[in-house]
Amino acid sequence: MNQRGKKDKSGGEGTDQPGKKVTPPGNADKEIESPEFPIPTVVPATGKGVRSITAPLVYTLWGPPLENGRVFLDDQGTIMAVTPRRQKVHFPVREEVVYTEGVLVPGFVNVHCHLELSHLAGVIPGGTGIGGFIGAINRRRGAPEEEMVQAARHAASSMYHSGTVAVGDISNTALTAPLKKESPMTWITFVESFGFHPSRAERALQQALAVWEVFASQGMAASIVPHSPYSVSDPLMRAIAELDQLHSSRLSLHNQESSEEDLFFRRGEGAIRAHLTENLGLDVSHWIPTGLSSLESTLPKLPASKPLLLIHNTFTTSTDLAFLRKIRTEAPTWLVLCPNSNLYIGGNLPPVPLFRREGVPLCLGTDSLASNHGLSLFDEVVTLHRFFPEIPAQELFTWACLNGARALGLSHRLGSLEAGKQPGLVLITPGQDNHDIFMPGSRLTRLA
Ligand SMILES: [Zn+2]
Repeated sequence: MNQRGKKDKSGGEGTDQPGKKVTPPGNADKEIESPEFPIPTVVPATGKGVRSITAPLVYTLWGPPLENGRVFLDDQGTIMAVTPRRQKVHFPVREEVVYTEGVLVPGFVNVHCHLELSHLAGVIPGGTGIGGFIGAINRRRGAPEEEMVQAARHAASSMYHSGTVAVGDISNTALTAPLKKESPMTWITFVESFGFHPSRAERALQQALAVWEVFASQGMAASIVPHSPYSVSDPLMRAIAELDQLHSSRLSLHNQESSEEDLFFRRGEGAIRAHLTENLGLDVSHWIPTGLSSLESTLPKLPASKPLLLIHNTFTTSTDLAFLRKIRTEAPTWLVLCPNSNLYIGGNLPPVPLFRREGVPLCLGTDSLASNHGLSLFDEVVTLHRFFPEIPAQELFTWACLNGARALGLSHRLGSLEAGKQPGLVLITPGQDNHDIFMPGSRLTRLA
């Protein structure tokens, strides 16, 4: 089986330039070695039984990949132990043995989604750039509530079956609250506020607070967050920052999804200005370009003590990263990559080699069905592997599982196949015609 981390020394055309157009490179193989394996174990929670699942390759993500491994789970999905297949671990309960011919990974953590936009699947054409996309979203966002809820339920179900265990979900309304409440997945809701004109700040904040109240009053994790640097006025940004000081929460912000964003901040020009004036009919006379990038202009306005998720980062540069490192010293900052959404809207990808070289913490999201063909996080992994084959599979799965769990504050129970956690378990089986889990035809089976 050849589903392991791969290396292409010729480099393909993985981009190092922010937002550079890319073409898929070729692949070559790289072997990995089985590690010496310690075996932390815990006892089954209920004592009813244990499933032991073997696979040619197991990505525990708390250690190196394990060849010919075995994962022991109790009937609650709690990991009892992970061992080499031949190593004997005895649990004093009935053991069901399952043999597989694929790769085992923990459940996926989708750090950025907009479940309530699921009714827009296939509605907005791709390749329009950010100007066309936000204009189309603005025109088509509304729909009968029943239709929106039904589409969201269907999308949530497909996420579950594609191995997702937790979601960082942007909500502008409380429509998804009932389905999140009864969902088997964990939801961290980011109630998103936007309003470009300062006169709208108070109303926007009150709307967000009303939505937040619905989630919070039912004990669901939720925080109020700004949509993006260009769609939130200074008074609204200040109000959100002050609110956030009061709540133990994390922030999410769409960042540098397009080159238009920097253009608007540096010179006050381009598609974003056109959207605000022509689509929304707004007065932009108060807007004073900063001469700086969008990120440089916005980071100082955010609470330094709260974890921050920056979404997209398609046009983030090394200068931005240096600034980020200087200013964000108190709490972690995660860059959340949504490659399929970036390709859908603008045909660009973020500068992943730059992020890796600079050691920036990365995790993954799908964004919404308005700008993606599906909400399976594994599809994002496959895309990254296709364009950046030099990235080891272990690293990609770490972004998709463990880093996502860390970014959402859930790594105490999700993200790695570690004794005591309930991280979900996904089997990825290669298609019949090849032996590579990253090639078309591979199948996902949720085992826990
Ligand atoms: Zn988004």
